[in-house]
Amino acid sequence: MALKFDNAHAWEARLERASAYALYLHVPFCAQKCAYCDFASWATRRDDPLMSAYTDALVSQVRELGDIGALEGLRTAYIGGGTPSLLGAPALGRLVARASALGPEELSCEANPDSMGDDVIDALLSNGATRVSIGVQSLNDFELRELGRLHDAELAQERVRAAVDSGLDVSCDLMCAIPGQTDASWHETLEAAIALGTTHVSVYPLMIEEGTVFDRRYSNEDCDWNSDEAQACRMQKAQVELERHEFNQYEVASYAKNGKVCKHNISYWTGQPYLGLGTKASSMLTLKLYLKLSEKCGSLPLPPSGVSRVRLTVKNSRSQIACDPRLASLRFNIEFLTEAQAAAEDLMLGARMRAGLDPGLVSHARRVLPSLDECLGGLVADGYLHTRGSRLAPTQRGWLLGNELYERLWGLAPGDVLEA
Ligand code: SF4
Repeated sequence: MALKFDNAHAWEARLERASAYALYLHVPFCAQKCAYCDFASWATRRDDPLMSAYTDALVSQVRELGDIGALEGLRTAYIGGGTPSLLGAPALGRLVARASALGPEELSCEANPDSMGDDVIDALLSNGATRVSIGVQSLNDFELRELGRLHDAELAQERVRAAVDSGLDVSCDLMCAIPGQTDASWHETLEAAIALGTTHVSVYPLMIEEGTVFDRRYSNEDCDWNSDEAQACRMQKAQVELERHEFNQYEVASYAKNGKVCKHNISYWTGQPYLGLGTKASSMLTLKLYLKLSEKCGSLPLPPSGVSRVRLTVKNSRSQIACDPRLASLRFNIEFLTEAQAAAEDLMLGARMRAGLDPGLVSHARRVLPSLDECLGGLVADGYLHTRGSRLAPTQRGWLLGNELYERLWGLAPGDVLEA
């Protein structure tokens, strides 16, 4: 199979950026730990002074990154968690204001209904946030209790409406294949969420992760409600309902109205370099951006030859960051990717998008992955990809059996990723 594209150059420009396209700030505090959660977050009292000190440390680190030119031309910023709204209006306002001063066209913040008072919404708006992503998960009280969430359906609906009325772009996170959920209750949650006037919905099937309360509670049970079939069925139901209400699915789990896509999340799937600050935050850097950062962060080693991309994860704990906010004090887990591995990774991530694989990426990948056409041809023959306009895009089967699709694309790159 030979699709002809010749715009590799446009794609390769992003591999040469010396500054980040996107910035992620991680707030690792939650009011309590949900039963299914294995994210980097810890239950924290609302009056714990660590939250304010940690926030100010992030503000300081953002300033330092700005000073070295690592955030020039920043397009998006995202404050995630954890529960950023738990910081409260004054501290969250300082963090949002710092990110906003960088001039991103989109600035998102995650929030939970139980900690997103009107003062928090005002702090988001007045300091330059454009978007809030609210952890609703379900609009059924029994399911919310099972998940270990602190809000009930009524509070969630009231807070989402308040955010919509404020003029922020609002996204709702919903979760399917959860304990107690039925086809009828999932339908009701979807309908109720759509009726709130949000312009973006993310839908995730529950994953039972090791070490969580759910892992202990259900590890010896046959969880029909979370089977692959149940997950696929609920995801398809969400697709039908959301598309019926003019939400466009632009990624496996993401739906937006009127072009209100999350540009920040799209940057993760389209090979744009991003910087992440905070405990366990991840970065994906071009070689140029890595070298720029390593001038500040003495712990970053010289990259081995042949490296094209570097992935970092912050190792410092919340207290370490709060006590010593200097970039120079950060420690990282490091992964060095070759050009071929970076291209395979971009193909894998690009296959999450309904728009399909960027022709520039395919052209670029053809240069560095000799068996690309054979692999793509096989994925088309097996029904995972199809041609949509001038692009190869995932089929319904490709979305529902994404792991198989992503593994075959990642398998194009030879060798293991080098860790340091
Ligand atoms: S609110 Fe989110 S990050 Fe916090 S414990 Fe629950 S799922 Fe995890």
